[in-house]
Amino acid sequence: MDVTFYGAAGEVTGSMHLLDTGTDRILFDCGMFQGRRKVSREKNKIFPIDRSKITNMILSHAHIDHSGRIPVLTGDGFAGRVVTTRPTADALNYMLMDSGHIQESDAQYLNYKSLRTFLHKLEQNNVNHKVSNKEKNNIKKMLKKNAYELNIETIHKLQKQHELDIITPLYTMEEARRSLDFIDGYPFQYPVTIGENTTVKFYVAGHILGSAFSIVTVRKEGKTYRILYTGDVGRFGKPILKDPTLAFDEEDRDIDLMIIESTYGDREHEPVEDLGSRLKKVLNDTFERKGSVIIPSFAYGRTQELIYILHELYDKGEVPRRPVYVDSPLASNITKVFGEHPEAYDNETHKAFLEKGENPFQFDKIRFVQTVPESMQLTQDSSSHVVISASGMCEAGRILHHLRYGVHNSNNTILLVGYMAEHTLGRRIQELGARDARPGEKGEVPEIKILGKTYPLNAKVEKIGGFSAHGDKHELEKIITGSNLRIKKIGIVHGEESQSAAFANHLQQKGYDTIIPKPGGKISLQSNRHKPVIP
Ligand SMILES: [Zn+2]
Repeated sequence: MDVTFYGAAGEVTGSMHLLDTGTDRILFDCGMFQGRRKVSREKNKIFPIDRSKITNMILSHAHIDHSGRIPVLTGDGFAGRVVTTRPTADALNYMLMDSGHIQESDAQYLNYKSLRTFLHKLEQNNVNHKVSNKEKNNIKKMLKKNAYELNIETIHKLQKQHELDIITPLYTMEEARRSLDFIDGYPFQYPVTIGENTTVKFYVAGHILGSAFSIVTVRKEGKTYRILYTGDVGRFGKPILKDPTLAFDEEDRDIDLMIIESTYGDREHEPVEDLGSRLKKVLNDTFERKGSVIIPSFAYGRTQELIYILHELYDKGEVPRRPVYVDSPLASNITKVFGEHPEAYDNETHKAFLEKGENPFQFDKIRFVQTVPESMQLTQDSSSHVVISASGMCEAGRILHHLRYGVHNSNNTILLVGYMAEHTLGRRIQELGARDARPGEKGEVPEIKILGKTYPLNAKVEKIGGFSAHGDKHELEKIITGSNLRIKKIGIVHGEESQSAAFANHLQQKGYDTIIPKPGGKISLQSNRHKPVIP
Protein backbone atom coordinates (compact mmCIF):
# COMPACT_ATOMS: atom_id res chain seq x y z
CA MET A 1 0.00 0.00 0.00
CA ASP A 2 1.72 3.18 -1.13
CA VAL A 3 1.22 6.54 -2.84
CA THR A 4 3.61 7.84 -5.53
CA PHE A 5 3.74 11.54 -6.36
CA TYR A 6 4.03 12.38 -10.06
CA GLY A 7 3.03 16.06 -10.15
CA ALA A 8 2.52 19.05 -7.84
CA ALA A 9 5.37 17.66 -5.72
CA GLY A 10 7.55 20.65 -4.86
CA GLU A 11 5.46 22.84 -7.19
CA VAL A 12 1.88 24.06 -7.56
CA THR A 13 0.83 22.59 -10.87
CA GLY A 14 0.29 19.26 -12.64
CA SER A 15 -1.35 17.43 -9.68
CA MET A 16 -1.11 13.65 -10.07
CA HIS A 17 -0.64 11.02 -7.35
CA LEU A 18 -1.06 7.24 -7.60
CA LEU A 19 -2.43 5.03 -4.83
CA ASP A 20 -1.36 1.41 -5.24
CA THR A 21 -3.38 -0.91 -2.99
CA GLY A 22 -1.78 -4.08 -4.32
CA THR A 23 -4.93 -4.93 -6.26
CA ASP A 24 -5.86 -1.50 -7.60
CA ARG A 25 -3.98 1.49 -8.93
CA ILE A 26 -6.08 4.57 -8.32
CA LEU A 27 -5.05 7.97 -9.62
CA PHE A 28 -5.72 11.12 -7.57
CA ASP A 29 -6.16 13.94 -10.12
CA CYS A 30 -4.65 14.15 -13.59
CA GLY A 31 -3.62 17.78 -13.87
CA MET A 32 -1.91 19.79 -16.52
CA PHE A 33 1.39 21.53 -15.86
CA GLN A 34 0.79 25.22 -16.46
CA GLY A 35 3.30 28.03 -16.82
CA ARG A 36 5.69 28.96 -19.61
CA ARG A 37 4.42 27.41 -22.82
CA LYS A 38 7.52 25.51 -23.89
CA VAL A 39 8.45 24.03 -20.51
CA SER A 40 4.87 22.96 -19.71
CA ARG A 41 4.44 21.48 -23.16
CA GLU A 42 7.42 19.20 -22.66
CA LYS A 43 6.24 18.14 -19.19
CA ASN A 44 2.66 17.50 -20.31
CA LYS A 45 3.76 15.35 -23.25
CA ILE A 46 5.25 12.74 -20.93
CA PHE A 47 2.64 10.63 -19.14
CA PRO A 48 4.63 9.01 -16.34
CA ILE A 49 2.41 5.95 -15.71
CA ASP A 50 1.28 3.09 -17.95
CA ARG A 51 -2.32 4.18 -18.51
CA SER A 52 -3.64 0.67 -19.08
CA LYS A 53 -2.55 -0.26 -15.54
CA ILE A 54 -4.51 2.55 -13.84
CA THR A 55 -7.77 0.99 -12.63
CA ASN A 56 -9.76 4.15 -11.76
CA MET A 57 -9.31 7.84 -11.10
CA ILE A 58 -10.58 10.24 -8.43
CA LEU A 59 -10.85 13.92 -9.34
CA SER A 60 -10.79 16.57 -6.59
CA HIS A 61 -12.08 19.50 -8.68
CA ALA A 62 -12.39 20.88 -12.19
CA HIS A 63 -9.45 23.32 -12.31
CA ILE A 64 -7.22 22.43 -15.26
CA ASP A 65 -4.08 21.99 -13.14
CA HIS A 66 -5.97 19.06 -11.55
CA SER A 67 -8.11 17.81 -14.45
CA GLY A 68 -6.42 18.99 -17.65
CA ARG A 69 -4.70 15.72 -18.61
CA ILE A 70 -7.84 13.56 -18.32
CA PRO A 71 -8.16 13.47 -22.15
CA VAL A 72 -4.54 12.22 -22.29
CA LEU A 73 -5.34 9.51 -19.71
CA THR A 74 -8.50 8.34 -21.47
CA GLY A 75 -6.91 8.51 -24.92
CA ASP A 76 -4.61 5.53 -24.47
CA GLY A 77 -5.51 2.22 -22.85
CA PHE A 78 -7.32 3.47 -19.72
CA ALA A 79 -10.36 1.27 -19.10
CA GLY A 80 -11.52 2.66 -15.75
CA ARG A 81 -13.82 5.47 -14.65
CA VAL A 82 -13.15 9.02 -13.50
CA VAL A 83 -15.10 9.44 -10.27
CA THR A 84 -15.88 12.92 -8.96
CA THR A 85 -18.70 15.07 -7.54
CA ARG A 86 -21.74 16.03 -9.60
CA PRO A 87 -20.98 19.76 -9.96
CA THR A 88 -17.40 18.92 -11.00
CA ALA A 89 -18.63 16.43 -13.60
CA ASP A 90 -21.00 19.09 -15.00
CA ALA A 91 -18.29 21.75 -15.07
CA LEU A 92 -15.86 19.43 -16.88
CA ASN A 93 -18.15 19.45 -19.92
CA TYR A 94 -17.04 23.05 -20.44
CA MET A 95 -13.59 23.07 -18.82
CA LEU A 96 -12.14 20.18 -20.85
CA MET A 97 -13.65 21.39 -24.12
CA ASP A 98 -12.18 24.83 -23.48
CA SER A 99 -8.82 23.23 -22.66
CA GLY A 100 -8.95 21.26 -25.94
CA HIS A 101 -9.57 24.53 -27.74
CA ILE A 102 -6.58 26.14 -25.98
CA GLN A 103 -4.37 23.14 -26.87
CA GLU A 104 -5.34 23.50 -30.52
CA SER A 105 -4.69 27.27 -30.53
CA ASP A 106 -1.36 26.85 -28.75
CA ALA A 107 -0.19 24.31 -31.32
CA GLN A 108 -1.32 26.67 -34.07
CA TYR A 109 0.64 29.51 -32.51
CA LEU A 110 3.79 27.38 -32.22
CA ASN A 111 3.43 26.31 -35.87
CA TYR A 112 3.08 29.97 -36.83
CA LYS A 113 6.23 30.78 -34.89
CA SER A 114 8.23 28.01 -36.53
CA LEU A 115 7.11 29.29 -39.92
CA ARG A 116 8.16 32.81 -39.00
CA THR A 117 11.60 31.62 -37.89
CA PHE A 118 11.85 29.87 -41.25
CA LEU A 119 11.08 33.14 -43.05
CA HIS A 120 13.89 34.92 -41.23
CA LYS A 121 16.24 32.16 -42.33
CA LEU A 122 15.00 32.61 -45.88
CA GLU A 123 15.74 36.32 -45.77
CA GLN A 124 19.29 35.52 -44.72
CA ASN A 125 19.52 32.83 -47.43
CA ASN A 126 20.08 30.34 -44.68
CA VAL A 127 18.12 27.37 -46.04
CA ASN A 128 19.17 24.43 -48.12
CA HIS A 129 16.52 24.42 -50.79
CA LYS A 130 15.42 27.03 -53.32
CA VAL A 131 12.34 29.14 -52.74
CA SER A 132 10.89 31.32 -55.46
CA ASN A 133 10.46 35.06 -54.93
CA LYS A 134 6.73 34.66 -55.37
CA GLU A 135 6.61 32.16 -52.52
CA LYS A 136 8.80 34.39 -50.36
CA ASN A 137 6.42 37.28 -50.92
CA ASN A 138 3.47 35.09 -50.06
CA ILE A 139 5.00 34.05 -46.77
CA LYS A 140 5.98 37.63 -45.96
CA LYS A 141 2.49 38.86 -46.67
CA MET A 142 1.01 36.19 -44.46
CA LEU A 143 3.37 36.85 -41.59
CA LYS A 144 2.40 40.51 -41.54
CA LYS A 145 -0.87 39.32 -40.07
CA ASN A 146 -1.05 38.60 -36.37
CA ALA A 147 -0.90 34.97 -35.26
CA TYR A 148 -4.52 34.96 -34.15
CA GLU A 149 -5.72 35.99 -37.61
CA LEU A 150 -4.15 33.06 -39.40
CA ASN A 151 -5.91 29.95 -40.46
CA ILE A 152 -4.50 26.59 -39.59
CA GLU A 153 -4.73 25.10 -43.10
CA THR A 154 -2.54 27.82 -44.63
CA ILE A 155 0.12 27.36 -41.98
CA HIS A 156 0.15 23.57 -42.34
CA LYS A 157 0.27 23.76 -46.13
CA LEU A 158 3.34 25.98 -46.03
CA GLN A 159 4.98 23.86 -43.33
CA LYS A 160 4.52 20.73 -45.42
CA GLN A 161 5.76 22.47 -48.53
CA HIS A 162 8.96 23.53 -46.76
CA GLU A 163 9.35 20.27 -44.83
CA LEU A 164 9.02 21.86 -41.40
CA ASP A 165 7.94 19.85 -38.35
CA ILE A 166 4.27 20.25 -37.56
CA ILE A 167 3.46 20.58 -33.86
CA THR A 168 0.35 18.68 -32.83
CA PRO A 169 -1.86 19.72 -29.88
CA LEU A 170 -1.60 17.76 -26.60
CA TYR A 171 -5.21 16.84 -27.38
CA THR A 172 -7.94 18.19 -29.60
CA MET A 173 -11.47 19.34 -28.75
CA GLU A 174 -12.70 16.06 -30.22
CA GLU A 175 -10.43 14.05 -27.86
CA ALA A 176 -11.64 16.19 -24.94
CA ARG A 177 -15.24 15.45 -25.93
CA ARG A 178 -14.54 11.70 -25.97
CA SER A 179 -12.95 11.83 -22.49
CA LEU A 180 -16.24 13.14 -21.06
CA ASP A 181 -17.76 9.67 -21.49
CA PHE A 182 -15.42 8.35 -18.76
CA ILE A 183 -16.60 10.79 -16.08
CA ASP A 184 -19.13 9.91 -13.35
CA GLY A 185 -20.52 12.46 -10.87
CA TYR A 186 -21.67 11.40 -7.35
CA PRO A 187 -23.20 13.19 -4.36
CA PHE A 188 -21.12 14.33 -1.39
CA GLN A 189 -20.79 12.09 1.70
CA TYR A 190 -21.85 8.94 -0.09
CA PRO A 191 -19.46 5.97 -0.35
CA VAL A 192 -18.67 4.98 -3.94
CA THR A 193 -16.89 1.74 -4.84
CA ILE A 194 -13.60 2.57 -6.53
CA GLY A 195 -11.73 -0.76 -6.33
CA GLU A 196 -11.64 -4.15 -4.64
CA ASN A 197 -12.87 -3.59 -1.06
CA THR A 198 -12.16 0.07 -1.65
CA THR A 199 -14.50 3.06 -1.46
CA VAL A 200 -14.19 6.82 -1.86
CA LYS A 201 -16.31 9.42 -0.09
CA PHE A 202 -16.34 13.13 -0.98
CA TYR A 203 -16.52 15.98 1.56
CA VAL A 204 -16.88 19.70 0.78
CA ALA A 205 -13.47 21.36 0.29
CA GLY A 206 -14.84 24.89 -0.24
CA HIS A 207 -12.26 25.79 -2.90
CA ILE A 208 -14.53 26.05 -5.96
CA LEU A 209 -17.99 24.69 -6.75
CA GLY A 210 -17.80 20.88 -6.60
CA SER A 211 -14.34 20.72 -5.05
CA ALA A 212 -13.92 17.84 -2.64
CA PHE A 213 -11.75 16.21 -0.01
CA SER A 214 -11.62 12.55 -1.05
CA ILE A 215 -11.42 9.90 1.67
CA VAL A 216 -10.42 6.49 0.33
CA THR A 217 -10.96 3.48 2.59
CA VAL A 218 -9.22 0.22 1.72
CA ARG A 219 -10.02 -2.97 3.62
CA LYS A 220 -7.31 -5.55 3.16
CA GLU A 221 -6.43 -8.72 5.08
CA GLY A 222 -8.42 -7.62 8.09
CA LYS A 223 -6.84 -4.17 8.18
CA THR A 224 -8.30 -0.83 7.25
CA TYR A 225 -6.29 1.88 5.52
CA ARG A 226 -7.67 5.37 5.12
CA ILE A 227 -6.22 8.10 2.89
CA LEU A 228 -7.51 11.67 2.71
CA TYR A 229 -6.56 13.69 -0.35
CA THR A 230 -7.52 17.36 0.04
CA GLY A 231 -7.04 18.54 -3.54
CA ASP A 232 -7.14 22.34 -3.16
CA VAL A 233 -8.39 23.65 0.19
CA GLY A 234 -10.83 26.56 0.16
CA ARG A 235 -11.38 29.49 2.48
CA PHE A 236 -13.75 29.97 5.38
CA GLY A 237 -16.46 32.63 5.26
CA LYS A 238 -16.39 33.26 1.54
CA PRO A 239 -19.62 34.03 -0.31
CA ILE A 240 -21.67 31.33 -2.07
CA LEU A 241 -19.94 28.07 -1.15
CA LYS A 242 -20.05 26.07 2.04
CA ASP A 243 -16.89 26.24 4.17
CA PRO A 244 -14.33 23.41 4.05
CA THR A 245 -15.47 20.39 6.09
CA LEU A 246 -14.33 20.12 9.71
CA ALA A 247 -16.81 17.49 10.97
CA PHE A 248 -16.25 14.18 9.21
CA ASP A 249 -18.44 11.09 9.61
CA GLU A 250 -17.49 8.99 12.63
CA GLU A 251 -16.22 6.06 10.53
CA ASP A 252 -13.91 8.36 8.53
CA ARG A 253 -12.09 10.08 11.38
CA ASP A 254 -8.97 7.89 11.52
CA ILE A 255 -6.65 8.90 8.70
CA ASP A 256 -3.45 6.96 8.01
CA LEU A 257 -2.21 9.41 5.42
CA MET A 258 -3.45 12.92 4.66
CA ILE A 259 -2.18 14.45 1.42
CA ILE A 260 -2.68 18.21 1.75
CA GLU A 261 -1.91 21.17 -0.50
CA SER A 262 0.30 24.05 0.69
CA THR A 263 0.00 26.85 -1.89
CA TYR A 264 -0.18 29.42 0.94
CA GLY A 265 1.55 27.30 3.59
CA ASP A 266 3.40 30.38 4.82
CA ARG A 267 1.06 33.26 3.97
CA GLU A 268 -1.95 35.08 5.36
CA HIS A 269 -4.80 36.48 3.29
CA GLU A 270 -6.71 39.72 3.70
CA PRO A 271 -10.00 39.17 5.50
CA VAL A 272 -12.85 38.01 3.28
CA GLU A 273 -15.37 40.60 4.55
CA ASP A 274 -13.77 43.53 2.71
CA LEU A 275 -14.88 42.58 -0.78
CA GLY A 276 -18.35 44.17 -0.95
CA SER A 277 -17.33 47.56 0.44
CA ARG A 278 -14.24 47.80 -1.74
CA LEU A 279 -16.12 46.81 -4.88
CA LYS A 280 -18.77 49.40 -3.99
CA LYS A 281 -16.15 52.16 -3.78
CA VAL A 282 -14.53 51.24 -7.11
CA LEU A 283 -17.92 51.19 -8.86
CA ASN A 284 -19.14 54.46 -7.33
CA ASP A 285 -15.88 56.31 -8.10
CA THR A 286 -15.79 55.06 -11.69
CA PHE A 287 -19.48 55.72 -12.41
CA GLU A 288 -19.09 59.24 -11.00
CA ARG A 289 -16.41 59.85 -13.63
CA LYS A 290 -18.85 58.35 -16.18
CA GLY A 291 -16.36 55.59 -16.86
CA SER A 292 -16.65 51.82 -17.07
CA VAL A 293 -15.15 49.10 -14.89
CA ILE A 294 -13.23 46.43 -16.81
CA ILE A 295 -12.58 43.28 -14.77
CA PRO A 296 -10.32 40.50 -16.07
CA SER A 297 -11.53 37.45 -14.21
CA PHE A 298 -11.12 33.70 -14.04
CA ALA A 299 -14.14 31.97 -15.51
CA TYR A 300 -14.58 29.48 -12.66
CA GLY A 301 -15.15 30.86 -9.18
CA ARG A 302 -13.96 34.45 -9.30
CA THR A 303 -16.57 35.50 -11.88
CA GLN A 304 -19.44 33.97 -9.89
CA GLU A 305 -18.24 35.65 -6.66
CA LEU A 306 -18.20 38.99 -8.46
CA ILE A 307 -21.69 38.42 -9.84
CA TYR A 308 -22.93 37.44 -6.38
CA ILE A 309 -21.47 40.53 -4.68
CA LEU A 310 -22.65 42.84 -7.47
CA HIS A 311 -26.14 41.32 -7.17
CA GLU A 312 -26.14 42.13 -3.43
CA LEU A 313 -24.86 45.70 -4.01
CA TYR A 314 -27.49 46.28 -6.70
CA ASP A 315 -30.30 44.82 -4.55
CA LYS A 316 -29.33 47.05 -1.63
CA GLY A 317 -29.12 50.09 -3.95
CA GLU A 318 -25.54 50.83 -2.89
CA VAL A 319 -24.29 51.54 -6.41
CA PRO A 320 -25.91 53.12 -9.50
CA ARG A 321 -27.71 50.40 -11.44
CA ARG A 322 -25.47 50.40 -14.51
CA PRO A 323 -25.46 47.28 -16.74
CA VAL A 324 -23.15 44.35 -15.93
CA TYR A 325 -21.87 42.27 -18.84
CA VAL A 326 -20.28 38.85 -18.48
CA ASP A 327 -18.34 38.50 -21.72
CA SER A 328 -16.77 35.05 -21.70
CA PRO A 329 -18.59 31.98 -23.05
CA LEU A 330 -16.76 29.73 -20.55
CA ALA A 331 -17.63 32.00 -17.59
CA SER A 332 -21.28 32.10 -18.74
CA ASN A 333 -21.43 28.30 -18.98
CA ILE A 334 -19.80 27.80 -15.59
CA THR A 335 -22.23 30.34 -14.08
CA LYS A 336 -25.02 28.17 -15.45
CA VAL A 337 -23.50 25.15 -13.66
CA PHE A 338 -23.42 27.21 -10.42
CA GLY A 339 -27.12 27.99 -10.91
CA GLU A 340 -27.88 24.26 -11.28
CA HIS A 341 -26.27 23.28 -7.96
CA PRO A 342 -27.96 25.21 -5.14
CA GLU A 343 -27.22 22.23 -2.84
CA ALA A 344 -23.61 23.46 -2.79
CA TYR A 345 -24.45 26.95 -1.46
CA ASP A 346 -23.93 28.04 2.14
CA ASN A 347 -26.69 29.20 4.50
CA GLU A 348 -26.11 32.90 3.80
CA THR A 349 -26.69 32.36 0.09
CA HIS A 350 -29.87 30.41 0.86
CA LYS A 351 -31.12 33.26 3.07
CA ALA A 352 -30.04 36.10 0.78
CA PHE A 353 -31.38 34.65 -2.46
CA LEU A 354 -32.93 31.19 -2.56
CA GLU A 355 -35.52 31.82 0.18
CA LYS A 356 -36.67 34.84 -1.81
CA GLY A 357 -36.92 32.66 -4.89
CA GLU A 358 -33.97 34.38 -6.55
CA ASN A 359 -31.05 32.89 -8.44
CA PRO A 360 -27.90 34.56 -7.02
CA PHE A 361 -26.41 34.69 -10.51
CA GLN A 362 -29.32 36.35 -12.30
CA PHE A 363 -30.58 39.89 -11.87
CA ASP A 364 -32.20 42.43 -14.14
CA LYS A 365 -28.99 44.35 -14.90
CA ILE A 366 -26.80 41.38 -15.84
CA ARG A 367 -26.31 40.14 -19.37
CA PHE A 368 -24.31 37.19 -20.60
CA VAL A 369 -22.73 38.13 -23.92
CA GLN A 370 -22.62 35.20 -26.30
CA THR A 371 -21.49 35.99 -29.82
CA VAL A 372 -18.32 37.72 -31.06
CA PRO A 373 -20.27 40.52 -32.86
CA GLU A 374 -22.14 41.26 -29.59
CA SER A 375 -18.82 41.36 -27.77
CA MET A 376 -17.29 43.71 -30.35
CA GLN A 377 -20.34 45.95 -30.14
CA LEU A 378 -19.88 46.16 -26.38
CA THR A 379 -16.31 47.43 -26.81
CA GLN A 380 -17.83 50.44 -28.63
CA ASP A 381 -20.40 51.16 -25.88
CA SER A 382 -19.30 54.43 -24.28
CA SER A 383 -21.95 54.52 -21.54
CA SER A 384 -20.88 53.47 -18.03
CA HIS A 385 -21.00 49.74 -17.39
CA VAL A 386 -19.20 46.83 -15.75
CA VAL A 387 -17.65 44.17 -17.95
CA ILE A 388 -16.30 40.91 -16.56
CA SER A 389 -14.26 38.99 -19.11
CA ALA A 390 -11.59 36.29 -19.38
CA SER A 391 -8.81 35.29 -19.42
CA GLY A 392 -8.04 36.15 -15.82
CA MET A 393 -4.41 37.13 -16.45
CA CYS A 394 -5.22 38.93 -19.75
CA GLU A 395 -3.26 36.39 -21.79
CA ALA A 396 -5.97 35.66 -24.34
CA GLY A 397 -9.68 35.92 -24.94
CA ARG A 398 -12.20 38.73 -25.19
CA ILE A 399 -10.75 40.74 -22.29
CA LEU A 400 -7.97 41.84 -24.67
CA HIS A 401 -10.49 43.72 -26.83
CA HIS A 402 -12.09 45.43 -23.84
CA LEU A 403 -8.65 46.54 -22.70
CA ARG A 404 -7.66 47.60 -26.20
CA TYR A 405 -10.65 49.96 -26.41
CA GLY A 406 -10.70 50.98 -22.74
CA VAL A 407 -7.17 51.55 -21.42
CA HIS A 408 -6.65 54.99 -22.96
CA ASN A 409 -9.68 56.46 -21.15
CA SER A 410 -8.83 57.94 -17.76
CA ASN A 411 -12.49 57.68 -16.66
CA ASN A 412 -12.30 53.89 -16.80
CA THR A 413 -11.04 51.53 -14.12
CA ILE A 414 -9.27 48.24 -14.71
CA LEU A 415 -10.08 46.19 -11.65
CA LEU A 416 -7.73 43.31 -10.87
CA VAL A 417 -9.23 40.62 -8.66
CA GLY A 418 -6.86 37.71 -9.09
CA TYR A 419 -3.28 36.58 -8.93
CA MET A 420 -1.27 37.76 -11.93
CA ALA A 421 1.63 35.46 -12.82
CA GLU A 422 4.95 36.84 -14.00
CA HIS A 423 5.31 37.63 -17.71
CA THR A 424 1.55 38.13 -18.24
CA LEU A 425 -0.22 41.24 -19.50
CA GLY A 426 -2.20 41.26 -16.25
CA ARG A 427 1.01 41.48 -14.21
CA ARG A 428 2.26 44.31 -16.43
CA ILE A 429 -0.97 46.27 -15.90
CA GLN A 430 -0.71 45.63 -12.16
CA GLU A 431 2.89 46.89 -12.03
CA LEU A 432 2.32 49.93 -14.23
CA GLY A 433 -0.89 50.74 -12.36
CA ALA A 434 0.90 50.66 -9.03
CA ARG A 435 3.64 52.94 -10.39
CA ASP A 436 1.04 55.38 -11.68
CA ALA A 437 -0.64 55.55 -8.30
CA ARG A 438 2.40 56.87 -6.45
CA PRO A 439 1.37 60.25 -5.05
CA GLY A 440 3.10 63.35 -6.38
CA GLU A 441 4.88 61.42 -9.11
CA LYS A 442 4.71 63.01 -12.52
CA GLY A 443 6.00 61.65 -15.75
CA GLU A 444 5.03 60.07 -19.00
CA VAL A 445 1.91 57.98 -19.28
CA PRO A 446 2.92 54.32 -19.18
CA GLU A 447 2.29 52.32 -22.33
CA ILE A 448 1.16 48.76 -22.75
CA LYS A 449 1.15 46.41 -25.69
CA ILE A 450 -2.11 44.62 -26.48
CA LEU A 451 -2.46 42.31 -29.49
CA GLY A 452 0.69 43.70 -31.06
CA LYS A 453 -0.18 47.41 -30.70
CA THR A 454 0.87 49.98 -28.10
CA TYR A 455 -1.69 51.94 -26.04
CA PRO A 456 -1.36 54.57 -23.29
CA LEU A 457 -2.51 53.27 -19.92
CA ASN A 458 -4.64 56.17 -18.69
CA ALA A 459 -7.32 54.10 -17.00
CA LYS A 460 -7.09 53.75 -13.22
CA VAL A 461 -5.83 50.39 -12.05
CA GLU A 462 -7.32 49.04 -8.82
CA LYS A 463 -6.58 45.74 -7.12
CA ILE A 464 -8.82 43.94 -4.68
CA GLY A 465 -7.27 41.02 -2.83
CA GLY A 466 -9.08 38.48 -0.70
CA PHE A 467 -10.56 36.74 -3.72
CA SER A 468 -8.12 33.83 -3.51
CA ALA A 469 -9.80 30.45 -3.68
CA HIS A 470 -6.99 28.83 -1.64
CA GLY A 471 -6.96 28.76 2.13
CA ASP A 472 -4.05 30.56 3.78
CA LYS A 473 -1.78 28.96 6.39
CA HIS A 474 -4.33 29.31 9.19
CA GLU A 475 -7.12 27.84 7.09
CA LEU A 476 -4.92 24.91 6.00
CA GLU A 477 -4.01 24.25 9.59
CA LYS A 478 -7.65 24.41 10.66
CA ILE A 479 -8.44 21.32 8.54
CA ILE A 480 -5.82 19.43 10.56
CA THR A 481 -6.09 20.84 14.10
CA GLY A 482 -9.64 22.23 14.03
CA SER A 483 -11.39 19.19 12.53
CA ASN A 484 -12.43 15.95 14.22
CA LEU A 485 -9.81 13.96 12.30
CA ARG A 486 -7.13 11.81 13.94
CA ILE A 487 -4.22 11.91 11.50
CA LYS A 488 -1.17 9.64 11.57
CA LYS A 489 0.94 11.07 8.80
CA ILE A 490 0.74 14.16 6.59
CA GLY A 491 2.18 14.38 3.05
CA ILE A 492 2.54 17.99 1.90
CA VAL A 493 2.15 18.73 -1.81
CA HIS A 494 1.09 21.53 -4.19
CA GLY A 495 3.37 24.27 -2.90
CA GLU A 496 6.58 26.06 -3.75
CA GLU A 497 9.46 24.68 -1.71
CA SER A 498 9.46 27.50 0.84
CA GLN A 499 5.68 27.32 1.40
CA SER A 500 5.64 23.53 1.87
CA ALA A 501 8.70 23.59 4.15
CA ALA A 502 7.29 26.33 6.38
CA PHE A 503 3.96 24.51 6.68
CA ALA A 504 5.70 21.19 7.45
CA ASN A 505 7.84 22.89 10.09
CA HIS A 506 4.85 24.47 11.73
CA LEU A 507 2.98 21.16 11.88
CA GLN A 508 6.02 19.31 13.23
CA GLN A 509 6.24 21.78 16.09
CA LYS A 510 2.69 20.80 16.93
CA GLY A 511 3.73 17.15 17.01
CA TYR A 512 2.57 15.97 13.58
CA ASP A 513 4.50 13.49 11.46
CA THR A 514 4.99 15.27 8.12
CA ILE A 515 6.76 14.51 4.86
CA ILE A 516 7.27 16.55 1.67
CA PRO A 517 7.46 14.00 -1.16
CA LYS A 518 9.86 14.70 -4.02
CA PRO A 519 8.67 14.29 -7.64
CA GLY A 520 8.48 10.54 -8.21
CA GLY A 521 8.76 9.93 -4.44
CA LYS A 522 6.69 7.39 -2.53
CA ILE A 523 4.98 7.19 0.86
CA SER A 524 4.21 3.70 2.24
CA LEU A 525 1.23 3.16 4.49
CA GLN A 526 1.00 1.05 7.58
CA SER A 527 -2.20 0.36 9.37
CA ASN A 528 -2.05 -1.11 12.85
CA ARG A 529 -5.42 -0.05 14.05
CA HIS A 530 -7.15 -3.32 13.41
CA LYS A 531 -5.62 -6.66 14.25
CA PRO A 532 -5.87 -9.26 11.47
CA VAL A 533 -9.09 -11.21 11.66
CA ILE A 534 -8.40 -14.87 12.42
CA PRO A 535 -11.15 -17.04 11.00
ZN1 LIG B 1 -7.84 24.62 -7.80
